[in-house]
Amino acid sequence: MNTVRLPPHLVEIKTQLNDDQITWQEAIDNLRAFTEKKKPWHTKEWKITRQEKIQDLCVQCGDGDNIMVLQHLWHPERFNDILKRLSADDTAKHWEAFKSEKIQDNWHPDVQKSPRNACPSCQSINVKFRKKMDHWVCCSTKSKYGRIIWRCANEFSQPSSVMEYSPAAKQALSNLKGIRYHASKEALNVEVLKKYGKKAVLFSIEQSERYYSCVDTVTFCKPCAANWDLNKIKICPQCKGQCHIFLNKCLSCMAKCDE
Ligand SMILES: [Zn+2]
Ligand SMILES: [Zn+2]
Ligand SMILES: [Zn+2]
Repeated sequence: MNTVRLPPHLVEIKTQLNDDQITWQEAIDNLRAFTEKKKPWHTKEWKITRQEKIQDLCVQCGDGDNIMVLQHLWHPERFNDILKRLSADDTAKHWEAFKSEKIQDNWHPDVQKSPRNACPSCQSINVKFRKKMDHWVCCSTKSKYGRIIWRCANEFSQPSSVMEYSPAAKQALSNLKGIRYHASKEALNVEVLKKYGKKAVLFSIEQSERYYSCVDTVTFCKPCAANWDLNKIKICPQCKGQCHIFLNKCLSCMAKCDE
């Protein structure tokens, strides 16, 4: 029998959303409220479908004496994952644009470069004045793999002047960059939800329908189901040993194949 029995609330919410009688946010709230009251497997529709689908023997180990369960081999995506999938291109474009936006020097009053003393040779501001010797020395270095490979060590009486951020301005710049990033992320979220919210909820409902229809189920005995769900282990079809559920056969059978 191929009849798909759906709980009435699911059909109703889908129709209302399709006809724009409710917003996608309301649809989510309604779906959530229902699931909180009643888990899918406690619904009448589910119980009837289960009764029809379930067999007397475990399709994996052939056991017929244990309690049999209907094992789902496919699960609906989470709403956020659907949303991520739908908006992947938009998201990539958004961050590309974000990265290409140059931050101007005069972007913020707290983030201004000011004249700093620098080494006339390498322009580094990592310079020190030695009072006793009455001259300046450059402390600039370059490192590779944690080892210093170059030292300027230039000594001079008159430092040159370069425009650089002060430590306080650097800190302000870093804070502002963080704020700018979070604001951009927030704007993207708003945009994505506005553009794909409804579509994502409709996708999610379609996936629930598939789940309710039990097309992706097999009959398992209780131990086989527990091994699958909790340990992600199935029976290797070749050697009947243990095998990860995402693999076609166990690793030792795969190794034998390669020999
Ligand atoms: Zn079994
Ligand atoms: Zn220098
Ligand atoms: Zn095997």
